[in-house]
Amino acid sequence: MTTDSQPYRAALEVAVREAISWLDGMPTRSVHPHKDPDEIRDSFHDSLAEVGIPPTEVIERLAQLGEPGLMGKGSGRFFGWVIGGTLPAALGADWLVSAWDQNSRANYLSPTAVTLEEIAGEWLLDLLHLPKDCAVGFPTGGTMANFSGLMCARYKLLKDLGWDVNEKGVNGAPAIQVLVGQDRHVSVDLALRYLGFGLPTVVDDDDEGRIDIAALRKIFESSDVPTILCLQAGNVHSGSFDNFAEAIEIARQHNSWVHVDGAFGLWALASAEFDSITAGLNLADSWATDAHKTLNVPYDCGISIVKDSQVSKGAFTVDAGYLFDYAAPHLQPSDKVVEFSRRARGVPVWAALQSLGRTGVVSLVEGLVHNAQWFAQELLTIPGCQILNDVVFTQVCFAFESDERTLAIGNALMANDSVWISGSHWKGKQVLRISVSNWSTDQEDLETTVAAVRLAGQN
Ligand SMILES: *Cc1c(COP(=O)(O)O)cnc(C)c1O
Repeated sequence: MTTDSQPYRAALEVAVREAISWLDGMPTRSVHPHKDPDEIRDSFHDSLAEVGIPPTEVIERLAQLGEPGLMGKGSGRFFGWVIGGTLPAALGADWLVSAWDQNSRANYLSPTAVTLEEIAGEWLLDLLHLPKDCAVGFPTGGTMANFSGLMCARYKLLKDLGWDVNEKGVNGAPAIQVLVGQDRHVSVDLALRYLGFGLPTVVDDDDEGRIDIAALRKIFESSDVPTILCLQAGNVHSGSFDNFAEAIEIARQHNSWVHVDGAFGLWALASAEFDSITAGLNLADSWATDAHKTLNVPYDCGISIVKDSQVSKGAFTVDAGYLFDYAAPHLQPSDKVVEFSRRARGVPVWAALQSLGRTGVVSLVEGLVHNAQWFAQELLTIPGCQILNDVVFTQVCFAFESDERTLAIGNALMANDSVWISGSHWKGKQVLRISVSNWSTDQEDLETTVAAVRLAGQN
């Protein structure tokens, strides 16, 4: 065992230099990758060497050959899908998490890592005005956060029917109905697939992609089957929020569990400015969100929140002789997510919240939305441009006179290295989408982006 820190120091120093060069170049670099996957494969093409090379050379090679194939997702002019940037404190903490390399399954394995995750969880509940005793877990992303909430739902509804799903599985289990909106995110379907549910029952929606309340009531009234209702806070096209107050009131009159996919939208709960769209959102049984979107921590960080921590424990906890029998007063990380050994991904969340403070989080979320609203106003000054959604949150969906023209403008934008705006298909129409998710977007970025759309529209 060497105690010399030199091997680490040299590799980390190259990594720092290369990381700073990457980040420093962000404002001026093309937002798009310079090389496509085949070209990148060509640059790295060699077969596995018989003999290795020193760590510093590995990192140098990685940075130099890899950089041309990187997406400038940290740019203030990147508006694709729903992809956040990275706050400096969160990035620094993420590096330290790797250097510490703690196993964050339980607090006796790493008092610091697990306690910081607990604190981050408490801060989140406080910020989002959710009940203080919820279980907060840190899975890999929104997909697994949806999975976690839905796994708790499955466990609880079946338990109430006298069926222990942990013991008996899903084969032959009593029926459970799963209701989703037409416009839910596909990761909800994926989570249901992992859980053995198959395809959910789809409820009609309105023009903004919100569940139609009358249709929902009808389904509930026509069946007594215990139900998992999945609602959405933040539609990827319109940013819309389901009508939580009414939907949850209906669900409460029937035997049900309400789960909310709030991958980027749950953060609206931080600001009173969004009270009209978040009304009733705090009344669900479980919520999924991402820290790596709106909160701007590096990738690999979802957040699962479950109101009844005993249900979380029932769904996730396992026992094995070699695990310590800890008498912890509260849940351990592995009582809240499916992973056992994992990185301390809640620590960058702690760092982001510590660096922003309450007012910083509120202004981050409000700022993203104000930028989206600014876009909606300015884009309207471009001939032929129509805004398709009510811009209540961070998403702006727009189109031009015909699908052909929208596609052509989308292609022209894809040829413009200074911005990234993705196309999509929504409500039977070819559309372009702006998702404002990066903390660093400033007025100049906004103006450059609108100018790019205007220019694309002139072709
Ligand atoms: C991004 C997203 C997800 C999936 O989250 P991942 O972090 O990509 O796993 C789920 N729902 C919505 C609404 C999203 O925007």
